Amino acid sequence: MERGILHFFSSEADFQAGAAGAELMRKYGVDRRVLGRDEVLKVEPALATFGPNIHGGTFTPSDESGDAMVFTQKLAALCRARGATFLHDTAIARIDTAGGQISGVRVRPVAGGAARTLVADQYVAAMGSYTAPMLRQLGIWLNIYPAKGYSATLKLKRPHDASVVSLLDDTRKIAISRLGDHIRIAGTAELAGFDTSLDGATAQKRCTALVRRYEELFPGVADTSEPHYWTGLRPSTPTNIPYIGRSKIANLWLNAGHGTLGWTHGAGSGQALAELISGQRPALAGFGFCGEALPPTRSFVPVAQPQGKQA
Ligand SMILES: Cc1cc2nc3c(=O)[nH]c(=O)nc-3n(C[C@H](O)[C@H](O)[C@H](O)COP(=O)(O)OP(=O)(O)OC[C@H]3O[C@@H](n4cnc5c(N)ncnc54)[C@H](O)[C@@H]3O)c2cc1C
Repeated sequence: MERGILHFFSSEADFQAGAAGAELMRKYGVDRRVLGRDEVLKVEPALATFGPNIHGGTFTPSDESGDAMVFTQKLAALCRARGATFLHDTAIARIDTAGGQISGVRVRPVAGGAARTLVADQYVAAMGSYTAPMLRQLGIWLNIYPAKGYSATLKLKRPHDASVVSLLDDTRKIAISRLGDHIRIAGTAELAGFDTSLDGATAQKRCTALVRRYEELFPGVADTSEPHYWTGLRPSTPTNIPYIGRSKIANLWLNAGHGTLGWTHGAGSGQALAELISGQRPALAGFGFCGEALPPTRSFVPVAQPQGKQA
């Protein structure tokens, strides 16, 4: 949906911080505007009930939103039509090396069955949060940690009173996206290792908090009796900047650690990496690509490894 993204703030301090952030974005060419309360309500009139609590907002008209699952499924179909093969329900068990290079990737169907080795000339490690543990066997220590997030999707009871523009309830760090006759509320970050369960006490609390907040903002607009909950792991780095580029193994490339913005940055990261692997200078100038990739602005910096581990 090409209607922009509107951040709104329910505290003055948050609004001031958001306005300062918007100025920085404008400095780097992003049209992020600072809005007073009335202008916020003009952009998204559905916020009227909550309006008295709003101190201001920022709006980026060029931002887009959508359904990430539909996007990735359609993208996969386009790739298949161009000859790509996807091995679903197949896990990488091991990465083999020979002569200081990757020589193959050992994969096995998750449901069981024979393992086999896939061989290529270049390899890309893009397993989100799982990239870090997977590459440790090669002595590559990446500073990526899973930050668990949740979403709740609700059916709308009164679609005409629901928001259309994508919203960021910035004080609570909750995103609200309109998906036809449904609304999706996403947010929270929990450091819980690789746990992706939804039935624990903390998970349940966080999920119900999303629905409760939606009800505060848009009372009676959605059916809160049958929420569809989902959880995922954001592959987070301390800076929120991903590892893109060549690893210390010449034919192994990295594209991982996209944190809170992996969908937003997915296409650009993929394009830049394809350019690097093809020996071209990426159109995205000035980004600190890893390793010996061009331009050599950022050398590969592994995490300090625990004692006793081999680099
Ligand atoms: C609640 C929530 C809301 C979010 N909202 C936004 C948003 O609004 N905008 C945005 O841009 N981003 C958002 N994100 C972040 C975004 O989802 C991530 O940054 C993105 O998914 C990272 O993509 P990835 O492909 O690197 O990793 P992942 O999406 O984690 O994918 C990694 C893949 O690797 C596979 N894998 C792992 N280990 C193995 C193995 N051993 N063998 C085979 N396969 C393996 C996994 O099965 C998985 O398919 C959100 C995240 C969450 C949790």
